[in-house]
Amino acid sequence: MSKPSTVLPADSPIELSEAYGSYPQLWMKRPYWPVNLRHDLNLNCANCRMLNVGDGHKESLAVWPRRDWGPFLPQVKCCAHQPYWPNYLLGAALHDANGSGHSHLAVLLEQSELTPWGARPLPKRRTAEARSGQCGYGQDLELACPMLTREGQCSAWRFRPATCSTYVCQSAHAVSGLAAWREYEGRLVAWESELAHQLVWQLGYTNDDLRESLSHSEALNIYRRCHELLRSGWAP
Ligand code: SF4
Ligand code: SF4
Repeated sequence: MSKPSTVLPADSPIELSEAYGSYPQLWMKRPYWPVNLRHDLNLNCANCRMLNVGDGHKESLAVWPRRDWGPFLPQVKCCAHQPYWPNYLLGAALHDANGSGHSHLAVLLEQSELTPWGARPLPKRRTAEARSGQCGYGQDLELACPMLTREGQCSAWRFRPATCSTYVCQSAHAVSGLAAWREYEGRLVAWESELAHQLVWQLGYTNDDLRESLSHSEALNIYRRCHELLRSGWAP
């Protein structure tokens, strides 16, 4: 994977996934992001700095402070969780019929609870991730994201949700920078979640429906419709 500054999206805000390029009506409505920390996005993920931490005192200090303890497994790096995925971004990924991520997307959907809101990891995985915590993050191959390819690339980079877009392993502004990224992550996750709720209300579902587990085909139908609604220019 690589961070947005190395992808250089031409038609979407730099801190969001490229899928937002299809929803320009949302750009001014998104939460304010820490623009003064822009250089933190300039990570060289091909040469991940989190692979060798902990080998010695000097190496550890070289990447301190950091968001997670490490060292990360080279096959996994920071993609050691399964993000919650809002309906419209899944719809965008499904719409991308020629996208290379489809076999991974199928696995993700199989390994998720599918609700009108979107897809979230199964309870067993949620528990395992919570147990692994900051100290064990990135150290368990079993917890690699289902969207990660064997080559260690994200197969859904253009559709990744907020937790992935805002992950910064180390900030040039040290602890305060990491805290600012965490705070922004929380606001962006809440914003994506609210948007996903509003979309399904717009399709006629109620709050009670939001808790329902859906069949695979029902879920895919809703996710596609949510994406289409946003693509048509609808805004909350
Ligand atoms: S841990 Fe940091 S450097 Fe490594 S892949 Fe993730 S964001 Fe990039
Ligand atoms: S969706 Fe992509 S960027 Fe996010 S954790 Fe999975 S592989 Fe990594």
